[in-house]
Amino acid sequence: MRIALSCLAFAAALTACTTTPPAPALSPGVDWVANSPGWAEEAEAVYAEAGAYVEAVAAAREPKSWAVILDVDETVLNNVEYQVRLETTGDTYTPESWHAWTAEKSAPPVPGVIDFVEKVNALGGHVALVTNRADSEQLWTEENLSDVGLTRHDDFRVLLTRARPYGPSDKTARFALVPSMLAVQGYPGVEVVAFVGDNEGDKPEDLSGAEFFCIDQGAMYGEPCAAVPGPGR
Ligand SMILES: [Mg+2]
Repeated sequence: MRIALSCLAFAAALTACTTTPPAPALSPGVDWVANSPGWAEEAEAVYAEAGAYVEAVAAAREPKSWAVILDVDETVLNNVEYQVRLETTGDTYTPESWHAWTAEKSAPPVPGVIDFVEKVNALGGHVALVTNRADSEQLWTEENLSDVGLTRHDDFRVLLTRARPYGPSDKTARFALVPSMLAVQGYPGVEVVAFVGDNEGDKPEDLSGAEFFCIDQGAMYGEPCAAVPGPGR
């Protein structure tokens, strides 16, 4: 009996010794996007505003004569899980770990985007996606998009990634290409009326009358259009 009790005491001590230490605290922006309902509410509000804008656009234009261009990461797909993993393990971004994350195809949609895309299509607009994900990640991206309910033809007509290694991160040339791509698909003379993104580079320098709608990504990546980590702009 004494041996059995000793074993129990030893086992209890061992359990105490091997308790997993608490995960490191997340940075404010990542914590906000990952854990605060405020982030989702803000994203939905931006998409609602963009939806009201395209309703006004559609009322004044012919069907199929206008388009919106959306960025993908932190605009259509929410990759905060990738960032949480990095901060939990103490790692930092690498192209390799990002590539592996995109291969998982498990990013959920940013709140509000599904309804917005549906609205654009229902109102007679086109949706184009211009992203700096690598061309080698395009198929996984398209499958991830399909898994969350956004499919080519039904929901978007153009998906332009960034060709590596020489394709520039600057999206200006790809933005300009979108009307031509729609023209060869049978929709000539399309005008881009809005851009949606989370970075300053998700819109052209000259908007030429188009509107830009900014999704707050918690200041996690790049040159965010909402530059304050967490709520607020
Ligand atoms: Mg982005």
